[in-house]
Amino acid sequence: MVKLAEWRGKQLFRKYGIPLPRGEVARSADEAESAVRSGAVPLPCVVKAQVLAGGRGKGGAVRFANSAAEAKAAAEAILGLEFKGERVRELLLEEKLPISKELYVSITLDRARRLPILMSSAQGGVEIESVDDSAIDRQSVDPFPGLTAYERRRAAGALGLSGPARGSLDRLLEGLWKLFVEEDAELVEINPLAIVGDGLVALDAKVIIEDDAGFRHPEYAEIRDDRTPLEEIAREKEIAFVQLDGNIGVIANGAGLTMATLDVLQEFGGRPGVFLDLGGTDDPKKVTEAFLLMAQARPKAVFLNIFGGVTKCDTVARGLVEAMAKVPPTDRFPLVARIRGNNEKEGVEILRQAGIISIPTLRESAQAAVAAAGSGA
Ligand code: GDP
Ligand code: MN
Repeated sequence: MVKLAEWRGKQLFRKYGIPLPRGEVARSADEAESAVRSGAVPLPCVVKAQVLAGGRGKGGAVRFANSAAEAKAAAEAILGLEFKGERVRELLLEEKLPISKELYVSITLDRARRLPILMSSAQGGVEIESVDDSAIDRQSVDPFPGLTAYERRRAAGALGLSGPARGSLDRLLEGLWKLFVEEDAELVEINPLAIVGDGLVALDAKVIIEDDAGFRHPEYAEIRDDRTPLEEIAREKEIAFVQLDGNIGVIANGAGLTMATLDVLQEFGGRPGVFLDLGGTDDPKKVTEAFLLMAQARPKAVFLNIFGGVTKCDTVARGLVEAMAKVPPTDRFPLVARIRGNNEKEGVEILRQAGIISIPTLRESAQAAVAAAGSGA
């Protein structure tokens, strides 16, 4: 999933003819000031933090300015913010338009119906999750004819548009659909879509590009920054590795067992901090690599929960023991293991020789891991 910042989303909007306010990106307060002084951004203007989280309006990350000096001050205030855990490094300055009404439209994938869906609501400007279901019009879109005139007309009705605004919506939705398909988006959202005079203007842009189409979009390579550096390395090595905010490392195999293991740790008061899904590998080298990656995440304790199938217990045990030897003594952590299934005996024996006891039951092993993380503090 590649979430685009508003200004990148708006670049795509421009490409597909979706009407926008005039604006400029700034990365410092000085740049913000000169964007206004040069006339690139007309006054009054809006200064908006370019972070990926929503709710900027309510959270003080969208401000208004009536002069270049005010724009500079607003920029200074916003650039210092850490908004929902994300440092603000970029701003979008735009002319402040006189809005007569805020609407909502989006196209996304409806995974239940396995079709794209067009959502429209006359109650825009607030998070769509807080809008009553009955106030949202939902239409499945058949991807082959694409968004039809009928569907666009129905959306106009749901948005309460008539006259020239209706024609404006028609063109806008055509562009939005084209963008959704051609740019491999999984979500395109305009909230608010503002009525300004007789027309419509996209005041905000939320675009998410489908990760599986990433190879078609080298232009986003540098902004896949929702991954941590370790996650990035793991991805290159095709290791399923995810960092969370707890302190227990989890190594399991298969998505089901991995998720269940996280739940069980949580159940006993533990906080999983990073997990690694060995999947169906039968290569001890890969296990070693994965384990060393986990060590770099500096967990307080590691819980190894393996059910041997394609991934045999002895393979995992061998890879693990090999990896443990490579972790510098200062970076070592307690390891609690539970390995069951194919070649269990061999695996348990390999671990035993390395001084690691495999605890056969899930409850006891998980509790031991929680205790180890607690005492390691
Ligand atoms: P979000 O809160 O993160 O979704 O940020 P938005 O881009 O949606 O901006 C929040 C709110 O700021 C909008 O709902 C508008 O009410 C207001 N806003 C943004 N741009 C303009 C503008 O050009 N003119 C006016 N009057 N208000 C704006
Ligand atoms: Mn918005």
